[in-house]
Amino acid sequence: MRSVFSIVFTALILALGISTSIALCSPKKIGKWVALLNAALIPPVLGNLMIVSTAYQFVAVLGYYIYSIGMDAVVFSLCMFTEQFCSGGGNGEKTPRIVGGLLLLDVCQLLVNPIFGHAFRMEQLFVEGRAYYRMVPLGGQLFHRIVDYSILGAIIVIFCLMVIKTPRAYREKYFAVLLTMIAAGMWQSFYVFSRRPIDRSMIGLVVFGLMIFYFALYYRPLLLLDRLLSNMASELPEALFFFDPNRVCIWANSQGLELIGLKSTEVDQAGGILLEMFGSAGDEQDTKATEFRIVRNGVLHYYMLEEHVVKDPHTRKLTGTYLQIRDVTEEKQKLKAELYDATHDRLTGLYTREYLYQCIAETLKANRDRVYLVIFVDVRNFKVVNDVFGSDFGDYALQRLADWVRNDVSDRCHYGRLAGDTFGVLIPREEFDAERIEAYLTNFTIKKGNAEYHLLVHLGIYEVERYDTDVSVMFDRAHLSLSTIKESYHTHIAYYDNEIRRKLIWDQEITAQLQNAIRDGQICAYLQPIADTSGKIVGAEALARWKHPEHGFLAPGLFIPVFEKNGMIIEVDKFMWRTACEVLQRWGKQHRDLFISVNISPKDFYFMDVVAEIKALVREYAIEPAQLRIEITETVMMNDSENRMRILSEFRKAGFIVEMDDFGSGFSSLNMLKDMPVDVLKIDMKFLGKTSETKKAQIIVKNIIHLSRELGITALTEGVETQRQYRLLMAMGCKLFQGYYFAKPMPIPEFESFAGF
Ligand code: C2E
Ligand code: CA
Ligand code: CA
Repeated sequence: MRSVFSIVFTALILALGISTSIALCSPKKIGKWVALLNAALIPPVLGNLMIVSTAYQFVAVLGYYIYSIGMDAVVFSLCMFTEQFCSGGGNGEKTPRIVGGLLLLDVCQLLVNPIFGHAFRMEQLFVEGRAYYRMVPLGGQLFHRIVDYSILGAIIVIFCLMVIKTPRAYREKYFAVLLTMIAAGMWQSFYVFSRRPIDRSMIGLVVFGLMIFYFALYYRPLLLLDRLLSNMASELPEALFFFDPNRVCIWANSQGLELIGLKSTEVDQAGGILLEMFGSAGDEQDTKATEFRIVRNGVLHYYMLEEHVVKDPHTRKLTGTYLQIRDVTEEKQKLKAELYDATHDRLTGLYTREYLYQCIAETLKANRDRVYLVIFVDVRNFKVVNDVFGSDFGDYALQRLADWVRNDVSDRCHYGRLAGDTFGVLIPREEFDAERIEAYLTNFTIKKGNAEYHLLVHLGIYEVERYDTDVSVMFDRAHLSLSTIKESYHTHIAYYDNEIRRKLIWDQEITAQLQNAIRDGQICAYLQPIADTSGKIVGAEALARWKHPEHGFLAPGLFIPVFEKNGMIIEVDKFMWRTACEVLQRWGKQHRDLFISVNISPKDFYFMDVVAEIKALVREYAIEPAQLRIEITETVMMNDSENRMRILSEFRKAGFIVEMDDFGSGFSSLNMLKDMPVDVLKIDMKFLGKTSETKKAQIIVKNIIHLSRELGITALTEGVETQRQYRLLMAMGCKLFQGYYFAKPMPIPEFESFAGF
């Protein structure tokens, strides 16, 4: 019996040693207190081992001392541990001094027992025929028991309070410790009071120590985790379903149950319903996400389904699966709305230009064998609509135009708003009915309230030849074709054809060549004589000519308009002005009475300080400003007229003579004449057309001449081709004449001999 207990106690000491060292290594804060407690349990067991195994009184007495003092250490470390364990890890230094003091006092009084013999004495017994020493408790031992039991009692009370106070999920660990503590305590008391020779309660004490070791360091409150996780899962916005390896649903959160309309008790039916709703949602191999569209209660819903596979980390066997279903309808709709906003024009609801281009490019790529037309739809003079009827009416007009486009084409077409008053369409060629559209556009009237306006809409058409041409280039071409119908009310459809293409190529070619042409002397000035009433040559107009190495002799009509459009005209004009100055300088004093008129294009005013430029030239060549006449056209005055008038005044102040070219060709009115700071009015016969010799034309010309005379402006008629015209104009009071009747424009040397140099 004794040897059995010796082995058992040795084993217990070993177990405590192991648990102590493991607890010491634990990263948890409570680890060191667990280690302390387990280590403190060793002396009592060791003491008992000595008592049980020895036949010597001396060893037994030592055993009793180790046992009793060890129990003080156990109680002390239990206090420290309790404070940590029950406070959730405070600093643990708060154990009342009183407890420490009491225990210390107890240790001291036990230690002096050999001197005073007040605590206990030993008596010898014989158990199984062997000598055995038992302690006979005296007053000191009683004190020791009172101290230890009362502290233990206090600790039990603390644990009881913890069990009552803490939520159920946490209670488990306190409860388990409390129960073992009570059991171990009772076992211990039973031994103490029954005074059995072998203290078996040591086993209970060690079990208690190991319980604490487990509950403090390894125990995870599964119930708590379960609660927390299921709470969390229930609060997720997603529907969740958990399946066992046999694909039977074992749990679903409330969102999940609501989605499939089941009670929590019927959750095992979820699999079938889900299969019906979503079909097969993934296999069991891998986690994957799929999107579904489902109509529920007549409303289209979008769901994102994610199936997660859970495998055992060791065996790689399927543990179960869980399904996450999220209603993404709102996100989808928001995304759709955003996409709509980004791809649709607000006013008309048609595609934006960028999106239209994208759709067209994709369609052309996918249908290479079909012939398509790209249509550029343009409202002519839309500014006028806005100006006259207000922008509300303008917006309304654009919406009606958009409606027409929308309703007139099939769903094989694409259409959109390109910019303010222009729209774009892609249409298969066979669907385009030019005649019907022409007829429709002839009567395209916008009515709103009392306002009514005939909207002049033009379609420029480009037939797609290469599907990979930039869509913007296609629309540019369609747009370019509109130049052939200008402001026409009779023709509404124009086609981009070879002629336009040739013109484009031509424009590009001569634009690229201009700089070199000026440098190489291909551009030159011709002079057309200007005569007075006596027929004497008094001056000339400088007109540009291009002697092109490939295309031969080019009249200005072939290049001037191109350069006026792209701004290169300033290069030509600056060259012409300089040439005129050179010629005037060469003529010198001898021909000081001759002048040369130079043309100034409206674009020149945009790109340079014309007055400063010409003044500098006159200074450089030392010529009289009056010899270099300035020809401007009416269009110059169209924009920014105040500023332009100021410029003309500056010219006159500097001594230049300013001529208004092509008077009567366009916009100016006779009324404007009185404010115009000009010296000469050039009236072009060609603007009076074929009627030039009719009565009406004569009256107009006569009146212009009269009016100009009244205003102190000299009248000059150009395009005079016959003697009859010359005489007639002279009779009307015209002072200067230019035209084929006198001479065509000619090279400078020819002019010089013509003028009789
Ligand atoms: P414009 O300034 O009105 O020049 C007069 C045009 O009428 C010249 O045509 C001239 O040859 C033509 N012409 C003169 N007399 C008669 C006639 O009796 N009958 C007819 N049918 N025509 C006559 P051109 O030289 O072809 O010049 C055309 C236009 O090109 C000019 O019209 C002018 O606007 C522009 N232009 C010519 N050279 C220059 C230049 O150096 N700079 C700028 N900016 N424009 C120029
Ligand atoms: Ca002119
Ligand atoms: Ca003219």
